[in-house]
Amino acid sequence: MIILDGKQTSAKIKEEIEAQVSVMKQQNKRTPHLAAVLVGTNGASMTYVGAKVKACQLVGFESTLIELSAETTEAQLLNKIEELNNNPEIDGFIVQLPLPKHIDEQKVLMAVDPDKDVDGFHPMNVGRLTLDLPTFISATPYGIMELLERYEIPTSGKHVVVIGRSHIVGRPMSILMSQKRAAGNATVTIAHSRTTNLAALTKEADIIVAALGIPEFLKADMVKKGAVVIDVGITRVPDASKKRGYRIAGDVDFESVAEKASHITPVPGGVGPMTIAMLLKNTLLACERRNP
Ligand code: NAD
Repeated sequence: MIILDGKQTSAKIKEEIEAQVSVMKQQNKRTPHLAAVLVGTNGASMTYVGAKVKACQLVGFESTLIELSAETTEAQLLNKIEELNNNPEIDGFIVQLPLPKHIDEQKVLMAVDPDKDVDGFHPMNVGRLTLDLPTFISATPYGIMELLERYEIPTSGKHVVVIGRSHIVGRPMSILMSQKRAAGNATVTIAHSRTTNLAALTKEADIIVAALGIPEFLKADMVKKGAVVIDVGITRVPDASKKRGYRIAGDVDFESVAEKASHITPVPGGVGPMTIAMLLKNTLLACERRNP
């Protein structure tokens, strides 16, 4: 069994980006600038945004963190987005999800300039993705594709079961893997909460992408021997033995599934770090597009 090491792979990608930034600096070009908007004080969101800003510093990007209170109105947030859209210093920006309940998430994502939408959530970019056109691929599916590619996992003609149909993970993942592209050309089944007899599907799968958000959901008896297993899940599970009071759990029962899988991503250290690396890659792309 081979661990698909997202920590190591993402470190390599960050080194590559850092090298590109050094060249940009030598050529007196502008360095990429990412802004992140955080509304409220959701613990997990604060951690994710903090990690994204830190990663920017590591590779030599400029970064700006905009922290807004949980009481921020939808209109105020839309104004902030308009400001970022019009700010020539900013190459790309993200609005960390989830947003407080009183704010319409869809309206907010629609307001982001598609050319600065480095999360790839804008309908224009999702549409481009489905049509095989160059776009910003949303970072988590993009990171999984990169991991499969770098580990040279054969995907052509393979049966992939994606568990979860969310707009940010499952759906784009299913589209990417069915496309004619590196780590693509697969036959894809997308499963969700209404799927009946999921185990019958997963047992037939060569590659399983678990993105449903239920800790340790995928058990060994649901997996074919030699399958490639990608665990996207990140859930905080209460754990009194930990100083912070919780542990991070994936959607895969790692201990038992690892014994059957040919390749598997750990949690933490798998898909999570890849997501951040691909956000940086998208920001670099946004900067290069704006400064050809
Ligand atoms: P979501 O809640 O938006 O979607 C969950 C999906 O799972 C839904 O489409 C639902 O139909 C499906 N589902 C729920 N129960 C199911 C069941 N019993 N059987 C089959 N399908 C079922 O979640 P999301 O935003 O896609 O995130 C999924 C998980 O991935 C979460 O744990 C999230 O924290 C994590 N995540 C990780 C990263 C990362 O960087 N590693 C990024 C995004 C999300």
